Amino acid sequence: MKTTAMIVAAGSGSRFNSETPKQFLDLSGKPVLMHALERFQEAASIDSIVLVLAKDKLPSFDTAKSEKIDAVVSGGPTRAASVFNGLAAVSGDCEIIAVHDGARPLVSLDEIDRTIAAAKETGAACLVAAVTDTIKSVSGREIAATLERNKLRRALTPQAFRVEVLRKAFESIELTEAITDECYLVEKLGHPIAIVEGSSRNIKITHPEDLILAEALLRADS
Ligand code: C5P
Repeated sequence: MKTTAMIVAAGSGSRFNSETPKQFLDLSGKPVLMHALERFQEAASIDSIVLVLAKDKLPSFDTAKSEKIDAVVSGGPTRAASVFNGLAAVSGDCEIIAVHDGARPLVSLDEIDRTIAAAKETGAACLVAAVTDTIKSVSGREIAATLERNKLRRALTPQAFRVEVLRKAFESIELTEAITDECYLVEKLGHPIAIVEGSSRNIKITHPEDLILAEALLRADS
């Protein structure tokens, strides 16, 4: 039974304000997406990779860049639609699927392996990071309440699931923009999701300053 990583990289990156989607911008000499791809290529717990790209990027992507790539498929108008398309390309002998944002280039091999191990044990696992700021809920232009910080976590990726759990979570769901991760769907199923503590280094490139931070973190590692 195989473990497949699905790397979703079909977004347009509208919050980044750049012509080139953020996952294709240069980070220390190669595209952001290549960093993520190489980490899944290297991870011992990953057997194969399904890559989800925007339709116009399909012809230009060289699958020889990673020998674990099983399929490259085109994404949809929302992240959830992209994951749904990727799921259709996952092979029948796959047991665990780990979904990862192509815009998270700094995921570690240890984070990947621990998330897969937890999903094998429990059926669903989410890599998370602690919240360091005090978080408020708001109502209009006023603070409504202070949330209990030690009960909060930021959902990172990968998020890993037994394939049948993720397929079930996608049944009869309207794939809207409000679905920003897979755990949301699995929560709605009522299936428990184990948390795996990850690192605040596993940032998602969203704004230009994230790219500067990622460069600095990579430089500190070398
Ligand atoms: O927009 P956001 O930062 O949440 O995107 C997270 C990941 O999902 C990115 O890697 C992005 O390329 C991907 N995505 C996608 N298809 C979309 C929207 C986002 O594959 N329609």
